[in-house]
Amino acid sequence: MSSQRILLVEDEENLREVIKMNLELEGYEVEVAETGTKALRKVGDRRFNLFILDVMLPEVDGFTICEKIRLNDTETPVLFLTAKDSGQDKVHGLKLGADDYLTKPFNLEELLLRVRVLVRHSERGKKEDAPAADTAKFGENEVNFVTFKAKGVNNPDILLTKKEIALLKLLISKKDTVVSRHDILRFVWGYDVYPTTRTIDNFVMSFRKYFEKDPTSPQHFHSVRGVGYKFTE
Ligand code: CA
Repeated sequence: MSSQRILLVEDEENLREVIKMNLELEGYEVEVAETGTKALRKVGDRRFNLFILDVMLPEVDGFTICEKIRLNDTETPVLFLTAKDSGQDKVHGLKLGADDYLTKPFNLEELLLRVRVLVRHSERGKKEDAPAADTAKFGENEVNFVTFKAKGVNNPDILLTKKEIALLKLLISKKDTVVSRHDILRFVWGYDVYPTTRTIDNFVMSFRKYFEKDPTSPQHFHSVRGVGYKFTE
């Protein structure tokens, strides 16, 4: 399955990391650039399905990047992230050929929603690209990330919570690699609430109850002592 590729241009490191991770969890392939110059170098390199451009950037600003993109490419959608809330900026951006914009600080879910709409729009008429995976299957289990429903080996009718879905998506997308507790807390719980690592243990214990034939001898959800967790198929 070919995934859709997004170029994310943002100079604030934390924001860039959080957006990148969340887009990857949605199944997108993400390339990042932290300056306008680096972004312009990447633009010509390969095809993207969406550009997400911060406006205020070192060296070359987002508006200029958009202008340059539009010289050769009028199709690929552009989404601006702007710290300014002046109507004039928005008009300016849209005149340069941006398709949408979000004013910081924005809600991550709103960003993901807009991205979904823009990418779908860009995909119209391109049959070879399959949609991002809505489900994951492993063993006798199946998880639907859209409906939050799951069929588990021990329970055919599970309704997962939002956090459970986020943690499952993270672990499954990083299949065969250990995801640290730090990363889990950061990407699933965000910056607002910091639960204890005990909370993650409880989530993983629930996953084992749902999805493991023998929860005491897990095949899919492994704890790596002192480091984090790992999912294997
Ligand atoms: Ca910036």
